Amino acid sequence: MGEGDELLGILCHVDVVPAGSNWTYGPFEGSVADGKLFGRGAIDDKGPTIAAWHAMKMVKEAGIPLNKRVRLIIGTDEESGFRCVRRYFEKEEMPTIGFAPDADFPIINAEKGISSLVFSQKTNTPDGQLLDFKSGNRTNMVPDHAQAVIGIGFAEIKDRFESFMDSYDYGATANGNDHDNDKCQREIRSCDGAQ
Ligand SMILES: [Zn+2]
Repeated sequence: MGEGDELLGILCHVDVVPAGSNWTYGPFEGSVADGKLFGRGAIDDKGPTIAAWHAMKMVKEAGIPLNKRVRLIIGTDEESGFRCVRRYFEKEEMPTIGFAPDADFPIINAEKGISSLVFSQKTNTPDGQLLDFKSGNRTNMVPDHAQAVIGIGFAEIKDRFESFMDSYDYGATANGNDHDNDKCQREIRSCDGAQ
């Protein structure tokens, strides 16, 4: 919409990171409670996408003259590698200026970024060896669960684990069990009530 040589791009996206588990409301139901919309992508970025579309509609219907063309650009691969943006710029006009209504209102001008880290252990230690660790489905989502297999009895680690979590005010409790298999692996799970 609008007129002019220059193009204002509003860059949104409708893909989401994996939903994960333990939702109070269904991740893809778009439930409204306490005046808030709950669902995967409600904030990032389907909610802001619809808000931007409504804003454009209101400006258009109000007959406000624009000296630029305005285009809502909706991507479908923002969370995984921006293939949608690369394709757009192969085929379509590059905006002169633009903004991305993504996440919390009114403005976010920086993100922390993502680190992909690989930890390794060079030697076997007699106790406390971390044998396996799993948490989250993707690097760009907040994990709801973490699970470690360690080479130490659960009873020995439980109190230390819980006091560590208490020191960060996570309010977590440890659930775990000992497996009497040939590798003598022990398992500890976190974190009920963790943030
Ligand atoms: Zn986003």
